[in-house]
Amino acid sequence: VSTRSRIQNITLEDIFITVKTTRAFHRTRLSIIIKTWFQLAKNQTWFFSDADDDEYHMLTNGHLINTNCPEGHDPDGLSCKMAKEFEAYIKSQKSWWCHFDDDNYVNTEQLVQILAQYDIDQDWYLGKPSTTYPLSIIDRGRVMKQTTFWFATGGAGLCISKSLGLKIIPYASNGNFIRISRKIGLPDDVTLGYIIEALIQNYLIVVPQFHSHLEVMKHISKEDLYKQISYGYGRWDQRGGEVGEEEGDGEQREGGAKAGRYIDNVIQVEDGLDKSIDPTRFLSLHCKLQPSVSYCPN
Ligand code: UDP
Ligand code: MN
Repeated sequence: VSTRSRIQNITLEDIFITVKTTRAFHRTRLSIIIKTWFQLAKNQTWFFSDADDDEYHMLTNGHLINTNCPEGHDPDGLSCKMAKEFEAYIKSQKSWWCHFDDDNYVNTEQLVQILAQYDIDQDWYLGKPSTTYPLSIIDRGRVMKQTTFWFATGGAGLCISKSLGLKIIPYASNGNFIRISRKIGLPDDVTLGYIIEALIQNYLIVVPQFHSHLEVMKHISKEDLYKQISYGYGRWDQRGGEVGEEEGDGEQREGGAKAGRYIDNVIQVEDGLDKSIDPTRFLSLHCKLQPSVSYCPN
């Protein structure tokens, strides 16, 4: 069993950050990341998309990767990207791999501080589940038996230490990730949890500072706002099915006029920028953390 020990001496340089995105979200979502936290982690952050885009290639200093994975929110396309993220991480040889979605704000300073609490030589799978119970599936992949495991929601972000990353290579590289994802019929983040918990018998450590828009964002208190690793925005009630912005143009109306479809689930930032220019509140958050940025008040 792994143990937390003394504070590790790590910096942002030890972390490889991957962000999953898709063609339709470059303009609407990547632009926000580029205006905010990407500026603090330009060298270690890479975007995994499904299309070439000269403009965003430039804006990210060449850090936009066309995975050639299928577009679409189906498990295959998403798992294809996660596999590419993982393979790029392994090549990087960094101490940590952290994955986020393109609707996350990453507080890089807190990310480093919190990862520094985990012994760098041990196996760590850090993140936050979005389910109240572990997932239970009939495991057709192996014997036909019930398998129960937790998984970290990809939309909240998750981190894996190098030593664990190396152990999952046989399951996550060379097409194995998609193969396993198909076999269990579940998406990328679930597949990762399955590999780590069910196949190699490690386990998820819940780190409460990861947040996805499946949570109620305004529940993050004013006092705790700056101590989080990740934040989200947007819909959280997915039970209605078509709650979000599936049809491409919906995304442009984020925070805006799509009444009834789009739920305004954003963090609360005191004295932030106007909602009309910062519907996600990520610019306002960034201003609190980096007050000298040009678009910030004074
Ligand atoms: N995504 C993708 N292809 C798609 C739709 C979404 O790669 O066709 C990515 C998107 O960029 C994001 C993640 O998958 O990083 C989750 O998508 P979204 O936030 O739209 O949906 P959620 O699963 O959070 O409801
Ligand atoms: Mn999302």
